[in-house]
Amino acid sequence: MTERRKLLETILGPGGPDSGCSDGLEVLDLYVEAELAGRPAAALFPDVAVHILACPDCREDYEGMLALVASGGQGEQS
Ligand SMILES: [Zn+2]
Repeated sequence: MTERRKLLETILGPGGPDSGCSDGLEVLDLYVEAELAGRPAAALFPDVAVHILACPDCREDYEGMLALVASGGQGEQS
């Protein structure tokens, strides 16, 4: 009965186990910072890169954070 496992791997991608939501979110701000600084975020945090691709929820968080930081940071909008 490996069908379910195979399906999971198909959904999660070929990278094997990813970091999971909580681990990924812990460094998501660092990931975003690195990306905006022009550093290879996906190489620095491969677990996060994989997870963002696999998890729509975290991808949404990532995109939101990216937009927020890119627009000048927190609390500066008015
Ligand atoms: Zn997630």
